[in-house]
Amino acid sequence: AKCGPDGNFSKGEMLPFGPIALSPSAGVLNYGQGLFEGLKAYRKTDGSILLFRPEENARRMVIGADRMCMPAPTVEQFMDAVKQTVLANKRWVPPTGKGSLYIRPLLIGSGAILGVAPAPEFTFVIYVSPVGNYFKEGLAPIKLIIEDNFHRAAPGGTGGVKTIGNYASVLKAQRTAKEKGYSDVLYLDAVHNKYLEEASASNIFVVKGNTISTPAIEGTILPGITRKSIIEVAESKGYKVEERPVSVDELLVADEVFCTGTAVVVSPVGSITYQGKRVDYEGNHGVGVVSQQLYASLTGLQMGLLEDRMGWTV
Ligand code: PMP
Repeated sequence: AKCGPDGNFSKGEMLPFGPIALSPSAGVLNYGQGLFEGLKAYRKTDGSILLFRPEENARRMVIGADRMCMPAPTVEQFMDAVKQTVLANKRWVPPTGKGSLYIRPLLIGSGAILGVAPAPEFTFVIYVSPVGNYFKEGLAPIKLIIEDNFHRAAPGGTGGVKTIGNYASVLKAQRTAKEKGYSDVLYLDAVHNKYLEEASASNIFVVKGNTISTPAIEGTILPGITRKSIIEVAESKGYKVEERPVSVDELLVADEVFCTGTAVVVSPVGSITYQGKRVDYEGNHGVGVVSQQLYASLTGLQMGLLEDRMGWTV
């Protein structure tokens, strides 16, 4: 679907996956005026298809679009487009436990613009792809490195929204980390170089006793939908959850660390390397009990194996 600055989107159409035509001077190509979302459709054992909190993705796109000077589809338009796209591709939703259909809504400044300014026309596209489970054979711990020469976001920047440029800034840090054998980079805040922010595409949680802490949302980390859900699930299980600045020093005394995100779901962290020193989280072969428990609860809800008392699935 397309629209002008007034935000009145055209009806939209279902097209086979393929290239889309853009002017070389499209806003998105020149000034990074683009925003995306990511969510998954899971198949229940009875064959029906579940979306997990899709209206949260719709709302996050509305907030991000404002920051990026773009009109966004309404929550209803977004939900309707996601549902129609999933239904048109339902044969690609894997059976229960065999993965999911990843859904990628994209909102771009598609109109031509020469000077730095918002584009005059916008395009909303959704494409999908079946994906396997992040963990093929049970949970496996990931290895993180804190690369304090690289930052992902600064106060006043765009770190709090899902704009494409944020991912441009992590490419080099991520590749450097992967070359050294790490799974991902854990970023620190750009002001003090001391407080945890997040990984390239996931939020971070630190467990100490019965308390689970996660960096507060202050404009430099993405407000993850998995993060928000895990906070609620953990609280319902009796954990004390704190959203606050979490110092890198706390990693030394933590019992467990895990990451959350649509792709990684809940990923236990087995080790974190910082300034040449490695901290290991022993757990059960690196998988902490809290991470294991929260992973089971969340995936159970997402796949429709557990009763959805929160009304999170559609
Ligand atoms: N942080 C970043 C930078 C991300 O790209 C993502 C993935 N969307 C997340 C956190 C996790 O967000 P969510 O749980 O909504 O997938």
